[in-house]
Amino acid sequence: MVTEPELEVLISKRKIAAAVRRLAAEIQVDYRDKYPLIVGILKGSFVFVSDLVRCLDIPLQVDFIRLSSYGSCTESAGKVTVINDLPVHIQGRHVLVVEDIIDTGLTTSFLCDYLRQQGPASVKLCSLIDKPSRRIVPVKIDYLGFTVPNLFIVGYGIDYDEKYRNLPDICIIKEEGKC
Ligand code: 5GP
Repeated sequence: MVTEPELEVLISKRKIAAAVRRLAAEIQVDYRDKYPLIVGILKGSFVFVSDLVRCLDIPLQVDFIRLSSYGSCTESAGKVTVINDLPVHIQGRHVLVVEDIIDTGLTTSFLCDYLRQQGPASVKLCSLIDKPSRRIVPVKIDYLGFTVPNLFIVGYGIDYDEKYRNLPDICIIKEEGKC
């Protein structure tokens, strides 16, 4: 018999929805006449992006980029690579990167540098969660949902070994990582 690890709600779906509305209100003011390109980082941000863009009542474009991730481990491997690149040119565009969690900062720092090399008009960063206690490289977060302590979380698009993305709340996974 497979025993499922214990989960505890850290941020409820109600609080997430309120944060998404707040972030969208800020973003909407800043990007009203800019036709932003919203760039979600797969896979963890897909739920956040889909909720966020539905709260944005401005013309915008959405696309996704896939970067190397933690895989089945709970610790970062440290090296970031592009697995599936953006299918659009970003030169002259106002790009808003949307991420689920900023932890060491390696992923978003790499991506923002990578995008800036392509000549966009601007690159800003929106993250649902910040875990500043584990930061290795500094990252400027322009729009932030929640700051959390050093806990391993799942749900609302965020996985552990590809599971739990469908949870509506953000939860703490209490079982030790196996890597
Ligand atoms: P960073 O490069 O900032 O260390 O890591 C960013 C990525 O690490 C996130 O997009 C996410 O995929 C993963 N990550 C960081 N913290 C957690 C966590 O608590 N739970 C899960 N499931 N992934 C995390």
